[in-house]
Amino acid sequence: MKTYDFIVIGGGIVGLATARQLQQQFPGFSLAVLEKEQYLSAHQTGHNSGIIHAGVYYSPGSLKAKFCKEGNQLTKEFCSEHNIPFKNTGKLLVATDELELERMHKLLERCTKNGIKTEILDKNQLQEIEPNVVGIGATFVPDTGVVDYVRISYKLADQIISAGGEIHTGCKVVAIKEEHHVEITTSRGNFFGNFLVSCAGLYSDRIVKMIGQKPDFKILPFRGEYFQLPVEKNNLVSHPIYPIPNPELPFLGIHLTPMSDGSLTVGPNATLATAREGYSRFKVNLTDLAEMLLYPGLYKLVLKYFKPTLCELKNSLYRPGYLKLVQKYCPNVTLSDLHPYPAGVRAQALCSDGTNLDDFLFIEGRRSLIVGNAPSPAATSAIPIANYICNKVAELK
Ligand SMILES: Cc1cc2nc3c(=O)[nH]c(=O)nc-3n(C[C@H](O)[C@H](O)[C@H](O)COP(=O)(O)OP(=O)(O)OC[C@H]3O[C@@H](n4cnc5c(N)ncnc54)[C@H](O)[C@@H]3O)c2cc1C
Repeated sequence: MKTYDFIVIGGGIVGLATARQLQQQFPGFSLAVLEKEQYLSAHQTGHNSGIIHAGVYYSPGSLKAKFCKEGNQLTKEFCSEHNIPFKNTGKLLVATDELELERMHKLLERCTKNGIKTEILDKNQLQEIEPNVVGIGATFVPDTGVVDYVRISYKLADQIISAGGEIHTGCKVVAIKEEHHVEITTSRGNFFGNFLVSCAGLYSDRIVKMIGQKPDFKILPFRGEYFQLPVEKNNLVSHPIYPIPNPELPFLGIHLTPMSDGSLTVGPNATLATAREGYSRFKVNLTDLAEMLLYPGLYKLVLKYFKPTLCELKNSLYRPGYLKLVQKYCPNVTLSDLHPYPAGVRAQALCSDGTNLDDFLFIEGRRSLIVGNAPSPAATSAIPIANYICNKVAELK
């Protein structure tokens, strides 16, 4: 019976960055990554906006604020070191009315507290740098960038394998026993390890249950629908263009993103999905759905955000509604420009009282550490999250 020093569940960017960091911090230790899909980064890491966030939005003092700022730098360094293309585009947050301008100034206070560089632009300066964008004012965030997180993941995987680690795909974890070591039952047989780290994204709460704990949150899947603009509109904007978010809502709003491959996408919105991997509106998973419907937190969330929930649903079903949100700051996007593009599903941790768990969350088991909540900007923050996990593992081992 082979016993690995470390087993990592999850072949997304957080699991792979963690596995690589464990190998670096504990040289000579054996390690296996277990991923249920046939290929890596099949879920959130492979279905996102590709933004290297600067850290504008996050509560000062939170792990998100700290890790995002560090991750912005470390992600770019990693890409430069390994010839992974990325662009230092900067981004624009555009205010289109007085209320948004007021909210923008509150965000700026947060940026100052988080040590994020910003420049305020008036209407004319905005027009000068983005002639197709309209607003009464804007904030330029120079440190934002764009990258393909799947390329980063595959580079991490190469490094893991070169350092003697194993990556087992098509290997779904279905049960975990923690005694003097960890026994993991998978669709490809049993694995034994001295210590387990789980980075299972949309299934993090189920892994917490497998180690015998009762999570005080549930993962709700929020589908984010995107569209791609036609090639001739690729140069419509040269920076990611974001609306000013409503501070009461957990998502950032539909934005225009010049992707690292040169294409231009718009999205994502945020609608509750009927399956954890509900990439299409028609996908229903009865177990996931029943679990959600039996969770009191869902009803409290819907009551709290009743109007925005209905609006998101309407705009998801009625494309002109979605378009209106984009046209508010970029009137030259038309209905016929909205070409289908794959959606993403966010893992949003929700407490039973209906509050969204905002910050990154880690749960300790007897011989394990589980990433409970790693929403956006966890792709940007993957390297600092991995460092944090490794330091915790050193304490717990
Ligand atoms: C629409 C959208 C837009 C986003 N935009 C950005 C952005 O621009 N910038 C940014 O920084 N972040 C963004 N994010 C967030 C970011 O993508 C995620 O926070 C990040 O990818 C999380 O990585 P992860 O490795 O934790 O999860 P995932 O990438 O979801 O990986 C988890 C892996 O665990 C595997 N797994 C689950 N259960 C099991 C099991 N039982 N056995 C074996 N394997 C299992 C899954 O198959 C999966 O591959 C966005 C997310 C979404 C959905």
